[in-house]
Amino acid sequence: MNFSIDNITRANIKKVSPYSSARDEFKDFSKEMVFLDANENPFENGVNRYPDPQQILVKMELAKLKGVSIHQLLLGNGSDEVLDLLFRAFCEPKEDNILTLPPTYGMYKVLAEINNVENKEVLLTENFQPNVNAILASANKNSKLLFLCSPNNPTGNSFTAKEVEKLLNSFKGIVVIDEAYIDFSSQKSWLQRLSEFPNLVITQTLSKAYGMAGIRLGICYASSEIISILNKIKPPYNINELTQQRAIDRLVKPLEIKNQITTILNQRMFLINALKTISFIEKIYPTDANFVLVKVPDATKIYHQLLQQGVVVRNRTSQPLCENTLRLTVGNEQENTKLINALKTI
Ligand SMILES: *Cc1c(COP(=O)(O)O)cnc(C)c1O
Repeated sequence: MNFSIDNITRANIKKVSPYSSARDEFKDFSKEMVFLDANENPFENGVNRYPDPQQILVKMELAKLKGVSIHQLLLGNGSDEVLDLLFRAFCEPKEDNILTLPPTYGMYKVLAEINNVENKEVLLTENFQPNVNAILASANKNSKLLFLCSPNNPTGNSFTAKEVEKLLNSFKGIVVIDEAYIDFSSQKSWLQRLSEFPNLVITQTLSKAYGMAGIRLGICYASSEIISILNKIKPPYNINELTQQRAIDRLVKPLEIKNQITTILNQRMFLINALKTISFIEKIYPTDANFVLVKVPDATKIYHQLLQQGVVVRNRTSQPLCENTLRLTVGNEQENTKLINALKTI
């Protein structure tokens, strides 16, 4: 495929010369240096120095864990920052457009609105798969980003590899695969095929399986060419010191994360089996994520009945193809039991 990153990058972004921070200009920590270059307070308290703008230690752990080079990595203040950077790098406001596939994660649409970029929506099929022909028919020369969320939020299913591959081969802009839930999936991550597709961007996050929603760390994987453009426009110190430290502490214990994922997957099975005994649940959708979408007779009513019993779920009834559905996050054994008991009283 003749994909050229230069062709799709905004002209003003190509011209930007990034802010050069004190830590960009001097970063040799090997010698005993005195740092009088960043106007920091010299009294050590663990966070008095600016954090590493390139988060090299975090990236080294991630690179080891995920089998990529650190030049294929960019970190964001949550995936949401990564997604926003993609808009700012590649979408000319009022001129370019993006494609999203509802029902899906709501942030793509919000970011399109904020960045004043048209959002072309192409509904998923009945089985919640991408409608490849309709997507390609909707795309034009100004279509810069195509968002594929797999496993998809809120439906829970993964997109079939065949359909995704067709889109990667035919879409002329960047295909963003949002893998926020990949650690719960039976499908392989597209990370293994990153170098095959110059137009592929994959996002992951520490917010879900890694149990760190509070530290805000999103991960972007792409070719080093794409990464260097995003790097140019990201805020210099977008990942704070506490986040970098806590991320490393967690990433060096992959077994702990793996065990928690196993427990959550077992609980998912328990929850699904228990949901099957609730007579008014009309449908339990197949899931590859840490949540289950169910169809009920009156989602809004049941949502409020659950609230009264102290259980908060997500009402997705206003989403296309999701009328009268509730999205249930898989909790721990006690939480799931509480949900099931509450449903039994309805
Ligand atoms: C939860 C979620 C994210 C995570 O966003 P963060 O900003 O990293 O917390 C990204 N994409 C989808 C589809 C999600 O559901």
